Amino acid sequence: MFNKIKKRNDHRKIFFDREFQSFFRFINKYSTRQFAVMAVIVATAVICTFEGFEYIYRQSVITRQTAVIQNEAVLIAAEYSNYESLEAAENNDMNSRLSSYSALNQIRIRIVNLNYVVSVDTYSIDTNKTILNPRVFDIFSNHKNSSGYDKKTGNIQAAVPVYNDSGKFIAVLVADLDYTEIDAMFHDVNSQNNNIKLVIITICLALLIVGIYFLNRPIKRVLDIVSNVSAGHTDERIPVRSYTEIREIADDFNNIMDRANETDQSRAEFVSNVSHELKTPITSIKVLAESLNTQENVPIEVYQEFMQDIVSEIDRESKIIEDLLTLVRMDKSVATLNVTSVNMNDLLEMTLKRVKPLAQKKNIELLFESFRPVVAQIDEVKMTQVISNLVENSIKYNVEDGWVHVSLNADYQYFYIRVEDSGIGIPEESINKIFERFYRVDKARSRETGGTGLGLAIVRNIILMHHGTIKVHSEENIGTTFTMRIPLNYVENQQ
Ligand code: ADP
Repeated sequence: MFNKIKKRNDHRKIFFDREFQSFFRFINKYSTRQFAVMAVIVATAVICTFEGFEYIYRQSVITRQTAVIQNEAVLIAAEYSNYESLEAAENNDMNSRLSSYSALNQIRIRIVNLNYVVSVDTYSIDTNKTILNPRVFDIFSNHKNSSGYDKKTGNIQAAVPVYNDSGKFIAVLVADLDYTEIDAMFHDVNSQNNNIKLVIITICLALLIVGIYFLNRPIKRVLDIVSNVSAGHTDERIPVRSYTEIREIADDFNNIMDRANETDQSRAEFVSNVSHELKTPITSIKVLAESLNTQENVPIEVYQEFMQDIVSEIDRESKIIEDLLTLVRMDKSVATLNVTSVNMNDLLEMTLKRVKPLAQKKNIELLFESFRPVVAQIDEVKMTQVISNLVENSIKYNVEDGWVHVSLNADYQYFYIRVEDSGIGIPEESINKIFERFYRVDKARSRETGGTGLGLAIVRNIILMHHGTIKVHSEENIGTTFTMRIPLNYVENQQ
C-alpha cells in the first residue's frame, strides 16, 4: 500500500518536472521572448496614442468652452451698463432674466457686490454669502477679466468686472459652467475607446504571432539541420540564403563541419597509412622467417644473413612506432615543451658532430657557419631532433662527395637556421607535400635509407610549437635549402 502511494507520488513528480521543464523551455524560447517584448511595445504604443489624443481633444474642448463662457460673461455684464446700480438693474427685472438665461444655458451666474457679498446667485446657493474666491478678489484690485478650468470643482469659470451706466465699477460677475457633464461624456467616449483599444491590440498581437512565426522560420530550419547533424548526418549543410546573421552562422557552421569532415578523412587516411607502414616490416619478417623454415639444411651463414635482415626490419618497425609516438605526443598539447635558455651555437656544433660519421660514409663535406653567438629559449631535446632530422635528410638525399652547409644567424627578435645541401633535390610537385605524414618522394630510396616519412612532419610540428616558420627551396639535381625562423624568446599561447 505504502509502496503504491510512493510510486504514484514519484509518477506525479516526474510529470510535474516534465511539465515545468517544457514550460521553462517555452518561456526561454527566442520567439516567446520576442513576442513578449513586441506585445508590450504594441500595447504601450496603442494605449499611449489613444490617451494622447484624448488628452489633446479634452484640452482643446476646455480652451474653447472657457473662451465661450468668458464671452458670455462679458455680454451679460454689459447689460448692467444700462443701469445706475445693482438695485436699479434688479428693479428692471434683471434677476429673472439672469435666471432664465442660466436655466437655458446651464451656466450659473453670480453677482458679487463691492462688499464681497453675493447679491445674485442663479442657483440660489450662495445668495447673501460672502465670497472667498481668489479670482474675484483679483478683479476687485485690477478690474481685469479672468477665466480658467478648476480641476477641483470640475467647473469652467469666468469672472468679469461689472460697470454702471456712468462707467463705475459696481460688482463682479462670476459665470460657472459645470464641466462634470462634459467630463461624463468624455468617460463614455473613453469606455468606447477602451473597446477599440482592445480590438486593435488583439489584432496587432495576432499579426505579431504570424509575423514572428514567419520571421523565425529560418532559425527553426537552422535548428533542425543542426540537430540532424548532431544526430550523425554530418553531410547536411545550412543553406546560406537568409538574414545576414543566419548567413554568418551558416557560413561558420558549414566551415566548421567541412573542417571536421576533412579532419575525419585525414584521420582515417592516417590510420590506414599507419596500418600499412606497420604491416610492411612485419610482412618482410614473415617472408624471411618462412623461407628459412621451409628450407632444409640451411647453412649457418644464410641463417645469419636472414636473421640480420629480420633484425633490421624490427629496427625499422620500432623506428616507425617511435616516430609515431613522438608525433602523437606533440599533437596532444603545447604544454609538453620544456623551454630553457640554450646556446644555439653549442647545440648545432654538438648535433653536427654526432652526424659526422654518416656524412663521412658518403664523403660529404659538413660545414657550420655562425654569424653571431645566439642564446634562445627553446626545448633543447626537440630542437636537436629538428636539426638532426634536417641534416640527416641532407646527407641521406645527397650525392657522393657532396656538401651540407648549416648556418646560424639572429636579429633582435628571431634566430635563423639554414640547412643547405648539394643533393638530389625535391620535384616541384612534391614540395608542398613533404611535410605530410608518411609522404616520401621516392618510397624505395627512403626505405633503403631507413626513412619513415615522418621526419619532416615531426620537424614542422616542433617548429610550430615554438611559434616559428619553416620554408623549403629545392631544385632537382642541384640541392635543397630548409630555412627556419624561430623567436628568440618563447611566448606561451602566441596567436
Ligand atoms: P623520410 O623518413 O622518408 O626521410 P621525411 O619526412 O624526413 O621522411 O622526408 C620526407 C621526404 O622528403 C623524403 O622521403 C624525401 O623524399 C624528401 N626530402 C626530405 N629532405 C630532403 C632533402 N634534403 N633533399 C631531397 N629530398 C628530401
